[in-house]
Amino acid sequence: MSYVLLTGGSGYIGSHTALALLRAGEQVISFDNYSNSSPESLRRVEQLAGKSMVQIKGDVLDADALAAVFKQYPVKAVVHFAGLKAVGESTQKPLWYYETNVGGTIKLCQVMAEFGVKNLVFSSSATVYGNAQNSPLPETTPTVAMNPYGQSKLMTEWVLQDLQRSDSSWNIAVLRYFNPVGADASGCIGEDPNGIPNNLMPFITQVAVGKRSELQIFGSDYPTADGTGVRDYIHVTDLAAGHVAALQHLSKGEGFDVFNLGSGLGLSVLDIVTRFAAVNQLEVPYQFVERRPGDVARYFADPSKAKAVLNWQTEKTLDDIVRDSWNWQKNNPNGYN
Ligand code: NAD
Ligand code: UDP
Repeated sequence: MSYVLLTGGSGYIGSHTALALLRAGEQVISFDNYSNSSPESLRRVEQLAGKSMVQIKGDVLDADALAAVFKQYPVKAVVHFAGLKAVGESTQKPLWYYETNVGGTIKLCQVMAEFGVKNLVFSSSATVYGNAQNSPLPETTPTVAMNPYGQSKLMTEWVLQDLQRSDSSWNIAVLRYFNPVGADASGCIGEDPNGIPNNLMPFITQVAVGKRSELQIFGSDYPTADGTGVRDYIHVTDLAAGHVAALQHLSKGEGFDVFNLGSGLGLSVLDIVTRFAAVNQLEVPYQFVERRPGDVARYFADPSKAKAVLNWQTEKTLDDIVRDSWNWQKNNPNGYN
């Protein structure tokens, strides 16, 4: 019996991936320090899957704690979600971001190498395309980081590519996520942001549930069909399935590769707000405000490589996204608390 180890397994994307892996018949270990999550998500994942998983509290910067996992369990592959992800915070605390995101990955790879485990899926981000103006964006789009968070993702990608070049027995899939949204259809697990949400969807759901009075839409004068910003929103269940596909790909021994995980569809802020209100029969009060500094008008994936190589593509619709987002929020107005 071998295991898939998820660092950051109790977080938003990690918990949905844990569920997908358990349902695909895998044995799963979550290794998480719970700095931005709660073990309650894992309890619910086990309940949904009808199967248990190994849950370890630990920090990816703690090599001994990581080594203890590999000593105790036969691990065949690692999906590395653990990290810090708030762009604004990364500009205030860059050393913490580099230490955790870059340093944590290096530590993890050192321990993996020590135990001869060389299959890794890494959570990168479409932010590595900077403010690229020419969506749809293929993986060949020039990369550039706009802030320490983005830089930490890009630096980690370089570290991983160099590692695989130095030792071809490593198999590494870098997944560049576009905008993860939604929640498991059960409404039992979902995104549980701390404090005021930075991202659009959790902000909308918190307005709908009455925790915030109105949504501010950042910019109404972009050169898009309705003037609001266009993004590629990917349902987290589709994203989780992308990790299952990437792990299958790695098991064939494919070296280093990079994949966009997105729908390929650009949706505007107003598309999301309007559909959210219509499908869930709710009011979402909003007002237009100034553009948010650093935002681009249109940003969406060319996901054709993931389709061709991983045999993966998104299945969920915008209606699924807005329904499942609301289902999670209304069942759990205070998240996992
Ligand atoms: P999340 O914060 O919900 O999950 C990350 C998990 O890692 C949390 O459970 C947290 O407790 C854990 N963690 C943080 N530091 C740790 C450490 N030092 N040791 C052990 N565990 C630690 O975030 P998420 O949205 O699930 O994102 C997962 C990954 O995907 C992150 O690497 C993130 O940068 C990347 N990503 C996320 C998005 C997004 O919009 N959600 C987009 C692109 C990329
Ligand atoms: N957005 C908005 N109001 C908010 C949060 C986001 O209008 O409170 C817009 C933002 O300008 C962008 C889109 O929604 O056009 C997605 O923003 P998010 O922060 O979720 O993702 P990212 O900017 O990283 O793509």
